[in-house]
Amino acid sequence: MEKHLCYAPSCGVAIDPTMFMCPEHWNLLPADARRKICRYYRKDLRQAGLEWTETAREVIEVLGQKLFERCLQSHKAGCGCWKTAAPAPALP
Ligand SMILES: [Zn+2]
Ligand SMILES: [Zn+2]
Repeated sequence: MEKHLCYAPSCGVAIDPTMFMCPEHWNLLPADARRKICRYYRKDLRQAGLEWTETAREVIEVLGQKLFERCLQSHKAGCGCWKTAAPAPALP
């Protein structure tokens, strides 16, 4: 199977089709968000359906919030990396 890009904004890491995000971003997600993705994720996302698209959109938003919090906590004041993040790769 072909690799695809991690669905986190500005990440760009190529990952195995069995994974939704690269380990770094996956580990930032809250447990309930991970559970939801696991419920709907399919290796062939064209078969995953509308629940998947909605769940993925929601989870990418949750991750955006996490990246924002991480920036505030661990980057220097005024870093703002989350503001300039490129959008997440388009969902299939
Ligand atoms: Zn990533
Ligand atoms: Zn930052």
